Amino acid sequence: MAIYYYVNKISGYNDNHVVHAAGCKYLPSQETRLFLGSFYTATAAIQQARKYYSTALGCDRCCPVTVKKPDPSE
Ligand SMILES: [Zn+2]
Repeated sequence: MAIYYYVNKISGYNDNHVVHAAGCKYLPSQETRLFLGSFYTATAAIQQARKYYSTALGCDRCCPVTVKKPDPSE
């Protein structure tokens, strides 16, 4: 099932723009988030967000993907 994803327009630490899924408790307010669309995976949403912000990455709570740091234990 596809989920709606948003990216924070305001960068956080390290100038990162954090991507959130709809319903996340850390979702930014309506004024400070950009709707990305509906995606089946957080990875796809982050790739879309990177068209706007090259530093976009997933929220630890709702987008637990390892795009930048593959887990060697897998
Ligand atoms: Zn989130």
